Amino acid sequence: MKKHNFNAGPSILPDVVLQNAAKAIIDFNGSGLSLLSISHRTKDFEDVLNEAQTLFRELLHIPDNYKIFFVSGGASTQFFHIPANFLKTKAGYVNTGVWSKKAIKEAKHYGEVQVVASSEDKNFTYIPKGFAIPADLDYLYICSNNTIYGSEYKVDIDSPVPLIADMSSDIMSRPVDVSKYAMIYGGAQKNLAPAGVTFVIIRDDMLEKVVRELPSMMNVNTHVANNSMFNTPPVFPIYVMNETLRWLKAQGGVEEIYRRNLEKAELLYNEIDRNSLFRGTVEKEDRSLMNICFVMSEGNEELAPEFMEFAKERGMVGIKGHRLVGGFRASCYNACPKESVEALVACMQEFEKMKANQ
Ligand SMILES: *Cc1c(COP(=O)(O)O)cnc(C)c1O
Repeated sequence: MKKHNFNAGPSILPDVVLQNAAKAIIDFNGSGLSLLSISHRTKDFEDVLNEAQTLFRELLHIPDNYKIFFVSGGASTQFFHIPANFLKTKAGYVNTGVWSKKAIKEAKHYGEVQVVASSEDKNFTYIPKGFAIPADLDYLYICSNNTIYGSEYKVDIDSPVPLIADMSSDIMSRPVDVSKYAMIYGGAQKNLAPAGVTFVIIRDDMLEKVVRELPSMMNVNTHVANNSMFNTPPVFPIYVMNETLRWLKAQGGVEEIYRRNLEKAELLYNEIDRNSLFRGTVEKEDRSLMNICFVMSEGNEELAPEFMEFAKERGMVGIKGHRLVGGFRASCYNACPKESVEALVACMQEFEKMKANQ
């Protein structure tokens, strides 16, 4: 049976990427050596790293006054690296769920945190808008797509202070006006790569704003100055990420993938809204294109385990919602084909019919 992979992360990658990665593990570029057994300082690997940076810049239209680097440690390491580098007195955070909360917790090790807006009052079912941004903040921090709660910013907000965004789960899924951000970063394991590599896009002026003495590995300048090669970079995840970026370019780039993502999300949200057994959990205007959350409708809550089993029997993988939201979450990342979303929609329709006839 065909599996439809809706895993939240690590998650689906394009078939061709997996095939190329498998080949490179056995024989990298016809060298007779495995990608896993070569020095990261060989020319062939440096070419991969440079190409990944170039493709990042090209696909997201990153202006020249930004640097791109790749490190390990995951987005969670950036939760404390960011305030270590840039929080001198006070930083602003928008609290939109689990991942921004974790970032807030780590920032408090370094200075004052002002939560300038929050959607916690309604269990993170919306994105706060129109909030005031104090001009005395060292930076403003947002999480652009809330992987767990399924909400997403639909505009690149204007900020009078440097804007820093965690884009772990929506990077390369939609066009972004990079010039509005001082820094964009994320774990690559949602939309670009296997676990193990973190991307950082940072505006040049930020490199001069590091507020304290730091160990080398924690200072952003170390990674920029050494072009991601200060220590051994995550060779394999970077290779796979580069293959994914090549694939994305061949599909028509971020603009084309965004069109497809809109189409997939519309298919599934329309069914959630139409089907009497389900309902969405997030305000319509803030619904994520990547992580689509839904639960059984009122009065039908007890059907959840049965639908889970029904869907599993039809090849759906990874649709169990996070325990904080319950219900279901279908993560429809770039590599998730429309056919998988159609299969899930058909499964929801079939389930509704079966229940109506019981
Ligand atoms: C998954 C995720 C993280 C955590 O990433 P790690 O690489 O596991 O540290 C952080 N932020 C968001 C938005 C995520 O989806």
